[in-house]
Amino acid sequence: MEIEVLRYPTDADWARCLFLARITQGRDGMVVPSQEWRKKILNSEHSPIRTLMYTIAIWQVPYFVSVHFVRHKFGIEHYVKSQRVNPERGEERQDAPVNHVMDLNAQALVNMSRKRLCYKADPKTRVVMEQIAEEIGKVDPVLREFLVPDCLYRNGCHELQSCGYYERIMRDGRDQ
Ligand SMILES: [Zn+2]
Repeated sequence: MEIEVLRYPTDADWARCLFLARITQGRDGMVVPSQEWRKKILNSEHSPIRTLMYTIAIWQVPYFVSVHFVRHKFGIEHYVKSQRVNPERGEERQDAPVNHVMDLNAQALVNMSRKRLCYKADPKTRVVMEQIAEEIGKVDPVLREFLVPDCLYRNGCHELQSCGYYERIMRDGRDQ
């Protein structure tokens, strides 16, 4: 399996994001925002971050993991190379590899991380989500900071049974 970030926001995209944020405040202008401003707007989760688009390819991912990602449906489009059933071999297996491309905005990526980085998520899917966050970190370190499990965002796991991550990092620190 391989993760590839095919597209992430350019300075021009960020300038547009700032422009849209200023329009809502009755101001205008097209300038490239600072890293600090980028962090602020991502932290606020205001609507202009929904214009920041990412295209992420997950090459050769097990089919069942792809199905987990497909459940995320707001601010995201999925393009999955469907499996053809081979008449000689019968049904494709649940872990048969597929190519899955997601075209999504920054908010959708943040939302997806909250669910899929939780230790209550399927372990294989969580590992894929961790790798996505890592690859995003290489091209867009500002966004990377906001790709955290819900348990970190909401000061404790809110799954029906806690995954235990928050309790563990409170005790041992985040990198344990
Ligand atoms: Zn959790």
